[in-house]
Amino acid sequence: MSDQAVILPDEAIEGVPARHWQWLADGRIQCDVCPRECKLKEGQRGLCFVRARTGDRLVLTTYGRSSGYCIDPIEKKPLNHFLPGTPVLSFGTAGCNLTCKFCQNWDISKSRKMDRLMDQAPPEAIAEAARRTGCRSVAYTYNDPVIFLEYATDVAAACRARGIKNVAVSAGYVKEAAREDFFGAMDAANIDLKGFTEDFYRKLCTGQLGNVLETVDWLVNETDVWVELTTLLIPGENDSEAELEALCQWVMERLGPDVPIHFTAFHPDYRMRDKERTPAETLFRAHRIARSAGIHHAYTGNIHHEPTATTYCPCCEAPVIGRDWHQLTRWAIGQGGHCTNCGTAIAGHFEARPGTWGRKRKPIRLGDFALVPDARPRRPSQPSR
Ligand code: SF4
Repeated sequence: MSDQAVILPDEAIEGVPARHWQWLADGRIQCDVCPRECKLKEGQRGLCFVRARTGDRLVLTTYGRSSGYCIDPIEKKPLNHFLPGTPVLSFGTAGCNLTCKFCQNWDISKSRKMDRLMDQAPPEAIAEAARRTGCRSVAYTYNDPVIFLEYATDVAAACRARGIKNVAVSAGYVKEAAREDFFGAMDAANIDLKGFTEDFYRKLCTGQLGNVLETVDWLVNETDVWVELTTLLIPGENDSEAELEALCQWVMERLGPDVPIHFTAFHPDYRMRDKERTPAETLFRAHRIARSAGIHHAYTGNIHHEPTATTYCPCCEAPVIGRDWHQLTRWAIGQGGHCTNCGTAIAGHFEARPGTWGRKRKPIRLGDFALVPDARPRRPSQPSR
């Protein structure tokens, strides 16, 4: 058996047929969604817990089920250069393919019960709820959406049919064919670049940095998906000057200066409760390192500090989008996404006017829209993104 698989011999596994798997010569099924390549015998689940073998096929057990729905500001994902100020209908499912000890959404990502607890949410119902609530996009978030890609891509197709954009919040830990399948349905992505050493990924996430960098490189250089990066800075783990300089250097060399990067504050959670919260000064230092490296758009997150949450024109340095937390405080972007002061194009997807959603969060139930009978999904307790 794969040392990454979970055996549940007495459990009846139900789900929809999964994509991206193969038979192995020894009779096991290998999941090819992420580099873990879980090898499964009958009745086993992968490490993410939501992809499982039943009989001669792999299935996704969380299709059509959610951890709850919330209308968020797009800035919360965080995306600062993609339809600023607009509302995004956010949802996740359960499980995750990384094992981050510092997970800030562990009640969802580590759940092994949710696939039986949640009510049904067909793709058309989610897309229709987004349309009726005036959301410009739907976000696949809270847990990593690559593990439920069959569901996410069906929801995304229903959204596209209604002119609604799709946003992924992912760690980018995914194999080549699956990433093309998944991100081909997305318009924007925020990728968690959790650290910049293999040691960090191995020790704290049981993953591989190299694969994540490949995903980011591919997304920025070979697709039309708008990409922003986020690094949660954990005191003493991934916040050294040398590591941040190396990260920013890589961004400049491989991605160029226009890919925004967010440095966000960690709070003690899950299996990392012995660390202090990230001091604001650490975020400011990371911001300075990014700007010194030449990155045009660096941001701090999870703190109130308007100067480092604001977008500046890379040419004349005028503030073009002011922000306080997730609230827009200034708008100086003209027609076509140009700085109103000097006319320089600002990287991103902008409209003539910003959205007016503000910083509020609004949980919703699909059942309230009469789209799903008695749909009463339980909501996460303040998921972080
Ligand atoms: S997606 Fe899940 S089942 Fe598939 S390889 Fe990754 S952890 Fe294993």
